[in-house]
Amino acid sequence: MATALKIVPPGNTVSNFVSRTHKLFINGKWVEAASGRTFATYNPATGEVLAQVAEGDRADIDLAVKAARAAFDTGPWRKLSPSERGRMIWKLADLIEENLEELAEIETLDNGKPLKIARAADVPLAADLFRYMAGWATKIEGNTIPISVPYTPGAQYLAYTLREPVGVAGQIIPWNFPLLMAAWKLGPALATGCTVVLKPAEQTPLSVLRLGELIQEAGFPDGVVNIVPGYGETAGAALAAHPKVDKIAFTGSTEVGKLILQAAAGNLKKVSLELGGKSPNVVFADVDLDAAIAGAASAIFFNQGQCCCAGSRLYVEKSIFDKVVDGVAAQAKKINVGSGFESSTDMGPLVSEEQLNRVCGYLESGFSEGATALSGGSRHGDKGYFVKPTVLVNTNESMKVVQEEIFGPVVTAMPFSDPEELITQANDSIYGLAAGIWTRDIKKAHRLAAQMRAGTVWINCYNIFDAALPFGGYKQSGWGREMGKDALEMYTEVKAVCSAL
Ligand code: NAP
Ligand code: MG
Repeated sequence: MATALKIVPPGNTVSNFVSRTHKLFINGKWVEAASGRTFATYNPATGEVLAQVAEGDRADIDLAVKAARAAFDTGPWRKLSPSERGRMIWKLADLIEENLEELAEIETLDNGKPLKIARAADVPLAADLFRYMAGWATKIEGNTIPISVPYTPGAQYLAYTLREPVGVAGQIIPWNFPLLMAAWKLGPALATGCTVVLKPAEQTPLSVLRLGELIQEAGFPDGVVNIVPGYGETAGAALAAHPKVDKIAFTGSTEVGKLILQAAAGNLKKVSLELGGKSPNVVFADVDLDAAIAGAASAIFFNQGQCCCAGSRLYVEKSIFDKVVDGVAAQAKKINVGSGFESSTDMGPLVSEEQLNRVCGYLESGFSEGATALSGGSRHGDKGYFVKPTVLVNTNESMKVVQEEIFGPVVTAMPFSDPEELITQANDSIYGLAAGIWTRDIKKAHRLAAQMRAGTVWINCYNIFDAALPFGGYKQSGWGREMGKDALEMYTEVKAVCSAL
């Protein structure tokens, strides 16, 4: 490890929070799991147990859904004016900002990411998402629609649509941006007037539990938001299958996304899915070389490569291939890998031992198929779950490392010479989450953007997110969009009202 680990000093706000017994948040109260069981969450920088958390299961999901159902059907929540609802969501954003440092430290402890990133990105983006959605609470509108009705000649009607909350939303989130993914899901659900049962990932429940306390403090009525940590196969599966849940929103692997879909079929609940990716990042020879090299490196290495939209397939025009891949490898070697609590750290550990083994397994698979590493290529140190930032060359489209999502700091680089072939190659994936294009030729950039089968295309930038910008996938990268106005559609039903005049 580059630097020695520094543990958050005992007695400060964060250690006080972390060292607590963590409970489930159901109907406005903190309760033990019905089974009495708990599970451990780990510090991925050391592999040590951080805290014990109540392990929610089918019985707890059932209680949480009952609470969310009652809050939606008969509680005070639905009687609040849109303005009051918006103000409550805004207050939650203020509270997140007031507790920014604590939330960032919890995130770094539980997920491993550098504290400077949690401070600058995860927590402020979560606050901003709630503010953006608070504004929408008063702007969820229908239309008035002129109708003609050929079989009632001469009759007059007033026809209009209402956009109503879909009801109880089940939300299942991953471990890569725990607080932020909770915000992406809760923001539109609360803005539209839904109630929620949220299940955080088993690896990273802590920041979401702290968020639950802030939700209480912001004054949301009991049962509007319920938080049930637990395992995917038990709590998650029960939530996805629950007959009283109207909608399920999931972020995670494509494999589990398909299970969610099957579970949702029982009561045909609405489904939105934000799944995996294997996003192409394309660099043309006419590019600003320094910007493209820095951009290609951060496209893959940001968040330890644990981003569904990571630029994990790098395509570089042949004439500058060596320069670009050598440049990205040089940047990779400069990345300081270590504890997220060191100010010099650029890259923290992967989230879990399982993820470490998964990524190392992919590295071995790449090497056995003939790939070579210009940087990295192995685990970093022997404590914690660190992997060296890796640039793989001598790769081709038939390799597992090029086809499958690795979800770690590993990029495969390939040269191209024919732009037409490049489009076919770039789109040759079961995924379609994001794509990057680096060129000075603005016409070429926008033409290519139109041809990319991906939900987000970044031109001369990468990993630019905003609460107002919809995010989601084509193909097996998902269904529906998060953030922006489009997210509201996932949480509303349209009712047509027709009145004879
Ligand atoms: P995952 O298994 O898809 O987990 C995502 C969420 O789904 C977690 O809350 C998980 O709970 C839950 N879950 C798991 N099985 C479930 C089931 N049968 N029914 C309902 N919910 C279930 O992802 P992972 O295992 O953490 O990571 C594996 C891969 O997923 C990664 O390598 C990456 O490819 C992908 N991933 C994508 C994103 C993204 O942002 N799109 C984020 C993370 C991971 P538990 O954690 O408690 O099991
Ligand atoms: Mg953890």
